[in-house]
Amino acid sequence: MVLVPIPAFTDNYIWVWHDNTSAVVVDPGETAGVVAYLNRHQLKLDAILVTHHHGDHTGGVAALQAATGATVYAPSTECPDLNAVRVTQGSHIPLLGTPCQVLHVPGHTAGHVAYVLTPPATPPVLFCGDTLFSAGCGRLFEGTPQQMLASLQALAQLPPDTLVCCTHEYTLGNIRFALAVEPGNVALQNRQAQCLALRAAQEPTLPSTLALEWQINPFLRVMEPAVRAAATTWRNSQLTQTGQLTSNELSDVEVLAALREWKNQF
Ligand code: ZN
Ligand code: FE
Repeated sequence: MVLVPIPAFTDNYIWVWHDNTSAVVVDPGETAGVVAYLNRHQLKLDAILVTHHHGDHTGGVAALQAATGATVYAPSTECPDLNAVRVTQGSHIPLLGTPCQVLHVPGHTAGHVAYVLTPPATPPVLFCGDTLFSAGCGRLFEGTPQQMLASLQALAQLPPDTLVCCTHEYTLGNIRFALAVEPGNVALQNRQAQCLALRAAQEPTLPSTLALEWQINPFLRVMEPAVRAAATTWRNSQLTQTGQLTSNELSDVEVLAALREWKNQF
C-alpha cells in the first residue's frame, strides 16, 4: 500500500492511500492536486474520508465525489450538506479490503472523527485530522480541554508503530513551542534537527509515529513532571498578572488547558 501526503493551500496535506489500482483520499479541501495525482497514477477513487467540517478539509469533497462516484464517509453530526455515509465512535468501514475503525475525538470540533486502518495494514495508519499534530494538537474551537485530553488519550492508546497522518504541516512551529515547555527533551531536540532538514529539502515531516509523539508531544505528556512544572509556572504567571491566587497542583486537564492557552499566545 502507498501512503502519500498531497500538499494543499499553504500548509494542508490531503492524504492519499492506495494499492496502485484503487485509492482512498482524506479531507480533500481542494481537488486540483488530488485529481492530478489520481490521473498520473491511473487510480480509481473508491472512498473519501472526512474528519470534520472545516472548509480546508471539505471544500473539494462534493466535486471529487461527482467526478469519481466515490463513497464519502463523514461524521454523523457534521457536514449535513454532504451526501455521505455517516460514521461515529465504533463504526467499522471496509477500505480497499482493509478494516477501518472510526473514533469520535471531540475537541477541535464537536463531531470530529479519526480513522484508523488496522491489520492487515501494517503498521496501522491513523488519519487524525486537526486533533493530533506532530508535537502539537488542534485548537479547541468547539470542545473543552477535558474532551481534547480524552480524545488525545484515546489516540495515544493505539499501537506505538501507528503512522500518524496529520492534515497540516505545523511540525516546526509546534516543536518551537514544545521546546519552550521541555527545553531539556533530547528526543524533541533530535526531532527538530530532523524536521529542519526535511523542510529545507521541501519534504513533509509526516507521517509521524505514535511512539515518537509520546516522546515529543507536550499534549500527550501532561503527566510528565517537566511538562506539569512548565504548565504550572506559566499558569501562575498568568494568575499573578491578574492579581489572582496561584496554585501548585494542576490536574491533567488543567495542564492541557494551560498548554493550549500558552500555545495560542506563543
Ligand atoms: Zn480544522
Ligand atoms: Fe484544518
